[in-house]
Amino acid sequence: MKKDNQGVSRRDFLRRMGLGAGVAVASIVLDPLETFADPGKRKKKGAEGEKVVAGQNHMTYRVQHGSGEQISLLGYGMMRLPSRDRQIDQDMVNQEVDYALAHGVNYFDTSPVYHGGQSEVAMGIALSRHPRESYKVATKMSNFDRRSQTLEGSKRMYEESFRKLQVDYIDYYLLHSVAGSMDDFENRFIKNGVLDFLLEERKAGRIRHLGFSHHGDVRVFDHLLAMNDKVKWDFVQIQMNYLDWRHGKSSRNTDAEYLYDKLDKLGIQAVIMEPLRGGRLANLPEESAKLLRERRPDDSIASWAFRWVGSHPNVLTALSGMTTMEVLQENVRTFSPLDTCTAEENALLERVADSVAGFPTVPCTACAYCMPCPYGVDIPGNFAYYNKAIDSHLLPLPDKSASDYAERAKQFADGYSEAIPKENWAARCADCEACMPKCPQQIRIPNQLGRIVELVRRKS
Ligand code: SF4
Ligand code: SF4
Repeated sequence: MKKDNQGVSRRDFLRRMGLGAGVAVASIVLDPLETFADPGKRKKKGAEGEKVVAGQNHMTYRVQHGSGEQISLLGYGMMRLPSRDRQIDQDMVNQEVDYALAHGVNYFDTSPVYHGGQSEVAMGIALSRHPRESYKVATKMSNFDRRSQTLEGSKRMYEESFRKLQVDYIDYYLLHSVAGSMDDFENRFIKNGVLDFLLEERKAGRIRHLGFSHHGDVRVFDHLLAMNDKVKWDFVQIQMNYLDWRHGKSSRNTDAEYLYDKLDKLGIQAVIMEPLRGGRLANLPEESAKLLRERRPDDSIASWAFRWVGSHPNVLTALSGMTTMEVLQENVRTFSPLDTCTAEENALLERVADSVAGFPTVPCTACAYCMPCPYGVDIPGNFAYYNKAIDSHLLPLPDKSASDYAERAKQFADGYSEAIPKENWAARCADCEACMPKCPQQIRIPNQLGRIVELVRRKS
């Protein structure tokens, strides 16, 4: 991945956030397909009308409507892979993939742009060591760059995915991040004939299921669903979690409840991204975390968010980036089998969401799509620090006349200097706006960085 002299690449950011470490465990070899045939399969009651089947490995599966195939409710997101010295740690990826397959996870999601193109390679290496029928591959048409928006450029990207993933068919193929605007959608998929090409590929069987991932403008989402009679979307990937359910609205985004309900009505199954909202729902403000711990003392805070998502019957799978073996193991436990949320627990999570939504945080999911900044700003790192200060009640600062004003302002600024290297400070932002169109959350990045600059100044 490219990195300029001062810049922080997407990979650097993820490493700095501690997303590269891992703990080795022995590989376990067990074909998860065996569990599908397991005569000891047992049924577990889930949400109303839901079919939940747990096999020998206890993973919860959903049945894909069109094909009848069983998909693990926990999907493995390969946007953030274990890394070492700025390189993907292939041994660790292999071990995690082995563990995931052995414990019933069979849906693996990547894209040609994750890890600068290396995620597909790493996934291909890890998965090709297993029988092809034991896993489902999901990848995307990530033709964001103008050069790849011609039919030829997009076809090259598509063919590369087969080569890197070492497969001769792709189970789930997505129009990646259909988001920005109608013009963007038309340029990437319609005028150049890319959607027609992908429909032909589905007919030919090289694509088994065709869908799109949506972040952003709800008008584009509605437009794509209006095309359903012609296209017959097999699935749609949306951002959904208990915070965005009713607090996802921004200028153009809408609430996840709208997206999910619309898909449900059309009978299109949803693949879920950001079930933890970029980690925010694993690191709740203490008063909210306490409420959840009191109710289920042995459960992690993150498991609540997964259980909430998985309790929706029209969810085919929920993606989680599992950069360490510990995270993978914990997630596997949560879904094996999934204990769906009760009405009382849903009400509790609604209260937590209302409370968290009241915090004036920046809605950054740490996806790092905006990176690198040509001026070196570590955009998600700055927002992560700022949000943590809000969650821990250091911010907002009290009125200047308050007795603790100076102390809190100093604490914020000193902590900032320690957490973020000077060359990556918000103050380096030159307002060039290069990052803005890349942000799926449509954050006005320079304005939000300006808030941080202003706060750091207040120390003096
Ligand atoms: S607007 Fe600021 S943060 Fe965004 S790319 Fe330009 S300099 Fe970097
Ligand atoms: S600012 Fe936007 S693009 Fe950048 S990391 Fe946050 S959510 Fe992702």
